[in-house]
Amino acid sequence: MIPLEIDCVRSQFQEIILSKRSVLLFGFGFIGRHVFHALRQNGVPIQAIIDNDTEKQGMKYEGVPILPPLSFLGSDVPVVIGIKGNYRPILQELNSLRLEHIIPHSFPLTLDHTIPFSSPLTWGSDSRSKQSFLKLDMIHFSNAARQLKLKESERLTLRSVDLVVTEKCSLRCADCSNLMQYFAAPRHADFGQAIKSLDTLMGAVDFVEELRLLGGEPFINPELDGYVKYTLSYRNVGAIVLYTNGTVIPTETQMRALKHEKIFVVISDYGDASRKADEMANVLWEHGISAIMQHIETWQDCALLRCYGRTAEENRKIFQSCCMRNTPSVKDGKLFRCPFASNVAALRAVPPELNQYVELINPIESANLIQGVKGLMGLSVLKVCDYCGGRPNNAFTIPAARQAPHPLSYTRFEEERACG
Ligand code: SF4
Ligand code: SF4
Repeated sequence: MIPLEIDCVRSQFQEIILSKRSVLLFGFGFIGRHVFHALRQNGVPIQAIIDNDTEKQGMKYEGVPILPPLSFLGSDVPVVIGIKGNYRPILQELNSLRLEHIIPHSFPLTLDHTIPFSSPLTWGSDSRSKQSFLKLDMIHFSNAARQLKLKESERLTLRSVDLVVTEKCSLRCADCSNLMQYFAAPRHADFGQAIKSLDTLMGAVDFVEELRLLGGEPFINPELDGYVKYTLSYRNVGAIVLYTNGTVIPTETQMRALKHEKIFVVISDYGDASRKADEMANVLWEHGISAIMQHIETWQDCALLRCYGRTAEENRKIFQSCCMRNTPSVKDGKLFRCPFASNVAALRAVPPELNQYVELINPIESANLIQGVKGLMGLSVLKVCDYCGGRPNNAFTIPAARQAPHPLSYTRFEEERACG
């Protein structure tokens, strides 16, 4: 049985730390390396690394072998997950290997440790940030474990859904991956339209693990408390997460709306640009609101708008390596597969025939809607990928939050024209 309560997992992990019991590390990408060093520096021996990537199998990392999953069928050695993202397929795989003593990645990541390689991610040194991070991760872990009992064919579950509540931002980052730097006349979302879109979507899907309210800067939308209160009424949402750049202190009204166990605020701390990040975190914690500080120094270089003219196979590879390919985004009454797709459509930065989405405003039969969402989430490449630099997991190469003095220009497509 996979434990579902945070205290239960915490005590299991503490027992591993105290007894220096060997563990297996499952997954060895970017987060896996973080987890590896956190475990090592806290004295936990790593017996082996398990990874599905055949190119890594047979290699060693700092003396620890990297082996295929089947090598550990039925093992009773505890498994620490080294992957951030969708727990459901991970737990399905571990379940099929009859591995049951499982620790989510948040527990080692919140141990004190230093990372011997360049990394854009830290979870903040404040224990309240770490506790909020653990709590959110455990919500995802527990929900994924509970859903293992449902048959795949019976459910439509989304790992996350983004709702873009505003295009307005208190910063103008030249490399914003959500493309806010290109909006010359940014708008708040139409509240009625956004809520109707969400109602349609939430009525069609069985479960959304994380509903994300973002922008732009969500805290400058005067209707933010209304969004928070309304989205809390959805019973099929695991957690509601607001992403902010740490420049705006929430109002008392917003704070009252945010005080709920399902609500989390992630503060992206870009150093000097996030001038009120510490103050914001303290205010939220003082009000009993779960807030997670993320210190971010580097970004992926992915916000240039141009037609790359790649081959179909090249675009498929871009898509397959993209960390945002399963991050559907609701904007202007439609569901898109990723934030790039929703925002290039709003900007008209790609020929209109390349936009792929599910209509959420016009009435549509429930069965067709479900098929539409499944179809969108089943695509193996998007037509707009050819206009996107791509977001591979390990490519954090440019300084975060460089500011642009004015909105950036781009080619606007008013009529149907093909790439090239
Ligand atoms: S803070 Fe920067 S990265 Fe975040 S939404 Fe605003 S412009 Fe984009
Ligand atoms: S357009 Fe394609 S490559 Fe770009 S973020 Fe979306 S899925 Fe990833």
